[in-house]
Amino acid sequence: MPEVYGEISGLRKSIIDRLEQFYAATVPFGQIILPELASELLAITAQINREVAIYLNRRGQVTAVAVGDVRTVALPELDGRRAENRLCGIRCIHTHPGSDSELSGPDLTALTVMRYDVMVAISENQGVAEASLGFISPASAAISEVSTIGPISLQELAQIDFTYLYLEIERQLGIKNRSAITAEKEKALLVGVEKHGGWEITASLEELAQLAETAGAEVLGVISQKKERPDPALFIGRGKLEEVRLLRQQYGANLVIFDDELSPAQQRNLEQALNVKIIDRTALILDIFAQRARSHEGKLQVELAQLKYNLPRLGGQGLVLSRLGGGIGTRGPGETKLEVDRRRIRGRISEIEKEIDNIRKHRGLHRERRQQAKIPTIALVGYTNAGKSTLLNKLTNAGVLAEDKLFATLDPTTRRITLPSGKETLLTDTVGFIQKLPHQLIAAFRATFEEVVQADLLLHVQDISHPLFEEQCGAVFEVLREFKADTKPLINVYNKLDKIGDPYLLQRLLRQPCSVAISALTGEGIDRLFTMLDAFVSVHLIDMDLLLPYSESGLLSRLYDGGTVHSVEYRDGGIAVKASLPQDLANRLKNFIQGDVTTNDPISG
Ligand code: GDP
Ligand code: MG
Repeated sequence: MPEVYGEISGLRKSIIDRLEQFYAATVPFGQIILPELASELLAITAQINREVAIYLNRRGQVTAVAVGDVRTVALPELDGRRAENRLCGIRCIHTHPGSDSELSGPDLTALTVMRYDVMVAISENQGVAEASLGFISPASAAISEVSTIGPISLQELAQIDFTYLYLEIERQLGIKNRSAITAEKEKALLVGVEKHGGWEITASLEELAQLAETAGAEVLGVISQKKERPDPALFIGRGKLEEVRLLRQQYGANLVIFDDELSPAQQRNLEQALNVKIIDRTALILDIFAQRARSHEGKLQVELAQLKYNLPRLGGQGLVLSRLGGGIGTRGPGETKLEVDRRRIRGRISEIEKEIDNIRKHRGLHRERRQQAKIPTIALVGYTNAGKSTLLNKLTNAGVLAEDKLFATLDPTTRRITLPSGKETLLTDTVGFIQKLPHQLIAAFRATFEEVVQADLLLHVQDISHPLFEEQCGAVFEVLREFKADTKPLINVYNKLDKIGDPYLLQRLLRQPCSVAISALTGEGIDRLFTMLDAFVSVHLIDMDLLLPYSESGLLSRLYDGGTVHSVEYRDGGIAVKASLPQDLANRLKNFIQGDVTTNDPISG
C-alpha cells in the first residue's frame, strides 16, 4: 500500500485507512475532481483539523496523498516534465481547515514552482463546500503570474473542462514563446483525409510536413484515410482515431496536425479524445506567418487572421478563458466572462482593421503617385518555394530573404530595377501561393495581392523540378482568378533549370507562348528573361530627347520620378535630357522634344 505523506503522527488508524482509500480512486477523464472525493477530503479535514492534499496525474489517478500544508509536505519526486512551456502534468487538490477556500501565498508559490496543472483549495463555509482554483496564466507578462477563480461550488468545479484548460494553458505558454510550435522541438504526427479529386494525399501530406518543419516541428509519422465526407464530430472515423491514438503513443508525439481545417468542435473533440494538442493546416500556416511577418502591416494582418480564427474556437470555457486572457475587471454589468472575451477580441479586431485601413490608404497614395508616374510595375507570383525571392535577388541584388523554407517571404517587397537597355521598372515580390490556402489569409494578405492586381505584368515563377509543379500552377491560377488577375499579361518563368535532366519536358514547356526557362540560382537564362522584360517595358516607355528651358528646370525631378533619365547636359539653350518616359508624361513634354523621337510612337504623329 502506498504511504500517506506528511504530518500523520497521532492520527488514528481509521483515518489513515480512509486517506489510503484515495489511492484507489480515479477521476474521469476531463474532470478536475469528483465532488464525492472532495467531500471526503473535507470530512477528514473536519475530524483532524489539518490540511489534506491529493495529487492526481492526467489519467485521473491519485499519485500521492498528504497531510499538512502544500508547501511543507515533502512529496516523492514528482515525475513529469517541467519545461518552460509545459505544466508538470500533476494537479493538487487540498483542503483548508478554516472556512476560507481562498488560495494562500504558499499555495500559489507551490503552483508556480511545481508548475502544477491546477491548484485547488476547498473548504466548508457554514456547511456549504466551496472551492478556489488557481492556474498559471501565461497571457500575463510574468511567467510566474497566476489566475484564480472562486469561490465556486464543487459542482461548478467538476464541470470545468479540465483537459481543455491545461491544453489551453500549454498552448498559450507556447504562443508566449513566440509560436504555437515551441522552441523545444515538437514531435508531430500528421493526419490527412483523401477525398476524390483532391490533391493526391501523399503529396499534400508531404507539403504539410514541410510546413510543419518550417514551423520548427519534427515530423514522426503520417496517417491518412480515404473518406468522402469528414466525420462532423471527429473529422476522421472512429477506427482511424484509435489508430492515431496508438501511433501517437508509440511515437511519443505531442502534437497532431490535420491537413484540413477542423471545425472548432472537431478540434475540441479530438483534443479530448487524444489528450494531445491538435492543430490544423490553417493554424499551422498562421503560426508560420506569425513567426515570419516582419512589417508592421504584415504583423497586424497575421494577428487579425489569428483572432478571427480563434474567435469561434472560444467555446464553453468562458470561465477559464477570460482568465487566460488576463483582463480581470474589464467585465461590464451582467455579462458572462465568455461574452467579455468575445467583446475584447472583437474590439481588438476592429482596432486592427482600422489601423490596416489607415496603412492601406497611405499605401494607396503611394501607389497613386506611382501610377501617375506610370513606371511599369512587374509582380512576381508563384507557388511558395518556387524561387521568387531568389529571382528578385538575382535581378536586383535586393537582399530579400530567400531560404528553402516555405513562406520565407511574407511582405511585399518592391524594388526599382534597371534593365539592360537602361530602362527602369518596379519589381514586386509577393507572398507564396499554396493549395488549401486558408481563406482568412487570402483576406489578410489582400495587400500583397493588391500589388499583383495593380501590376502591369506578372512573372509566374514555377519550380519545374517539383514533381507536382503543374498542380502548383493550378493552385496559383485559382488565387489569381479570385483576385481577377488571371487575365493580366504574364510571362511563364520556368525556374530551377539547373535541376532538370529531362530535355523533352523543357521543349514541351517552352512551346507555351511568353515563356522562358531560367535558373535563378545560377543565373542561366536570366539574359533571355531580361530581353523579354525590356521588350515589354519599351511598349510602356518612350525614348525621348528633350531640351528643357532653364525656366522649366523644375520638370527634371518629374522625369527622375516618373521615368528613366539616361543623361543630362547643361547647354546654352537649356538642359538637354535623354530619357525613357511613360506615355502620359511623354505627352505632357512633347513641346520640349529636340530632334527625333527614337521610337515610332504616336506622339509626333
Ligand atoms: P519563394 O518562396 O518563391 O520566394 O522561393 P525562394 O526564392 O525563397 O527559393 C526557395 C528555395 O529554392 C531556396 O532554397 C532557393 O535557393 C531555391 N532555388 C531558387 N531558385 C533556384 C534554382 O534556379 N535552382 C535551384 N537548384 N534552386 C533554386
Ligand atoms: Mg519568397
